[in-house]
Amino acid sequence: MNFLTLAILSLCFLLTSGEKARFENYRVYSIKIQNEQQLEVLQYLENSQNGLFYIESPISVFKSAEIIVAPHRFADITEFFERYQLENEIRVDNLQKLIDNEQPKFTPRATFGWEKYYDLENIYSWLDQLLEQYPNELTNYNFGTSYENRTIRAVKLSRKKGNPTIFIESTIHAREWITAATATYILNEFLSSSDPQIKELVENYDWVFVPVLNVDGYAYTHSTNRMWRKTRQPYSSSSCIGSDPNRNFDFHHGDVGSSTNPCSETYAGPKPFSEPETFAISEFIKTVDNLKLYMSFHSYSQLLLFPFGHTYDHAPNHKDMFQIGTKTIEAISKRYGTDYVTGNIAEAIYLASGSSIDWAYGVANVPISFTFEFRDKGQHGFILPADQIIPNSLEVLDGLKALVKEAKLLKYL
Ligand SMILES: [Zn+2]
Repeated sequence: MNFLTLAILSLCFLLTSGEKARFENYRVYSIKIQNEQQLEVLQYLENSQNGLFYIESPISVFKSAEIIVAPHRFADITEFFERYQLENEIRVDNLQKLIDNEQPKFTPRATFGWEKYYDLENIYSWLDQLLEQYPNELTNYNFGTSYENRTIRAVKLSRKKGNPTIFIESTIHAREWITAATATYILNEFLSSSDPQIKELVENYDWVFVPVLNVDGYAYTHSTNRMWRKTRQPYSSSSCIGSDPNRNFDFHHGDVGSSTNPCSETYAGPKPFSEPETFAISEFIKTVDNLKLYMSFHSYSQLLLFPFGHTYDHAPNHKDMFQIGTKTIEAISKRYGTDYVTGNIAEAIYLASGSSIDWAYGVANVPISFTFEFRDKGQHGFILPADQIIPNSLEVLDGLKALVKEAKLLKYL
């Protein structure tokens, strides 16, 4: 195969420190992968890039990939699509415009809230305020330190001894800002709501929240590149930075649906738990008593996924998780009609190995685990406008109520 034409597509995206990436008139293309040859050229393209180029990596035939293309490459990409007969569609016409419209035009009066997205410092100072305000029910855990030396924190909400514990891990992927906003919204509701159903959830279960797991990546999306996904650790073998932390867990690590190339968005890392962030949370999870349900918050696609990702084979309690998933997505859709799909990772989305929920289920023996992929379906993608934080949080909260109810009925909680 002649890869010469691919070489001219190379996108050099070097930033000097302090500079923020701009995506003026950049397009996002969605590409249908219909055969092995197309998959191969798209993967070749990814491996020759610095990881920024793709939004969704080309993982398998019959799935889509999404790429960001700079205006001066439009002609090249069109020629490339034609050469390999790649069916494609422009998902976003001007990525910078989406980013500019993500935050509200006004400045909210509150120092913290859910009308705009906040950075790590703001989230952490809000947690500090909560800890002062609710000293009897909240406990802080500084359970790890990131590659760039940031503290990785969890808070546990417990109102009585002996409760089963439910774990919410959020923002393992840096650019998925809606996840931190939703996790903090839910924590706030749990502490302050007078809704009897929420009060019951808080009374009878302990809740552990990790609002931002990939702290370095999250900080980087605020300072430099809004579209960053991975961790920020460099490797001697490559000039590309970071691993996909959700392929880095020690369960079928480096198996199908993850990459061995450091430039890929789904790079699994040089070895299991090579990233301090994933290692720290795995050690922390092992210390959590009576852990019955593990959840990981992501965006986007509107999916509710459960194990496994490394195989199409069904998990032993697949039927139960499917039943819980079905009730949950029914509840989610009731409020605003937002339609989710539920299923095991491999069948509902794609093969993916080394994810946190598979590890929690397969190694830490948590009996049920789920990944939420929040709004939307690609219209804004990761750049979900801030005025959707509250609607997204409310429907997810409806889903959580149903999830816990059904899990309890099936005797998991
Ligand atoms: Zn994600």
